[in-house]
Amino acid sequence: MGRKGISQYIPQRTCVACRQVRPKRELIRLVRITNGIIEIDTDGKKPGRGAYLCKNLECWESGIKGNRLDYTLRTTITKENREQLMKYSKDVLKESKDGKNS
Ligand SMILES: [Zn+2]
Repeated sequence: MGRKGISQYIPQRTCVACRQVRPKRELIRLVRITNGIIEIDTDGKKPGRGAYLCKNLECWESGIKGNRLDYTLRTTITKENREQLMKYSKDVLKESKDGKNS
């Protein structure tokens, strides 16, 4: 019987801001690189401790401005780093919102 692919495993992750569980592809991975700096991991392949956020500006704001990312990634995010992440998220999330034609 050709049932291949029906019960494919979809990896799921939890958004650190809203705690919703979503398929990994619907989330953006953030990774802590060696010096404690947080980077956006667009390929999801960077080594290091990772955290996930929805592609949703509200989640980014509460995750970055609060201390949830710091806590999850066990680091202290610098002001500069936070600004970098917010800037990135605004660019990326704005793009995906514009693409939606509802
Ligand atoms: Zn979220």
